[in-house]
Amino acid sequence: MPIYVYQCRRCDCRTEVFQRRMTAGSAVACEFCKSADVERVFTPFAVYRSELDRLAALDPMYYKRVDQAMANTPEADPLRHLARMTPFSSTPEAGDPIKF
Ligand SMILES: [Zn+2]
Repeated sequence: MPIYVYQCRRCDCRTEVFQRRMTAGSAVACEFCKSADVERVFTPFAVYRSELDRLAALDPMYYKRVDQAMANTPEADPLRHLARMTPFSSTPEAGDPIKF
């Protein structure tokens, strides 16, 4: 369902409204001053992008910054958890193998 934005002519505030059709605009009132003197404002619409598209659009500097942040944050290193695990060879009973 599309979101339409209306601007109040009295207080200049904007109100977002979910509407099935544009023709329902006559019933819209400003959510701040309750005035019905509103006009629809055309706003840029959102375009769906997949996660791959978003990753492809990222600045290559972003990856470098993430790597630097990970290097400066030991808590973020996933290998830290592996280092804390008990190796199977040092346990008296390793348990049953996991069946997938
Ligand atoms: Zn208003």
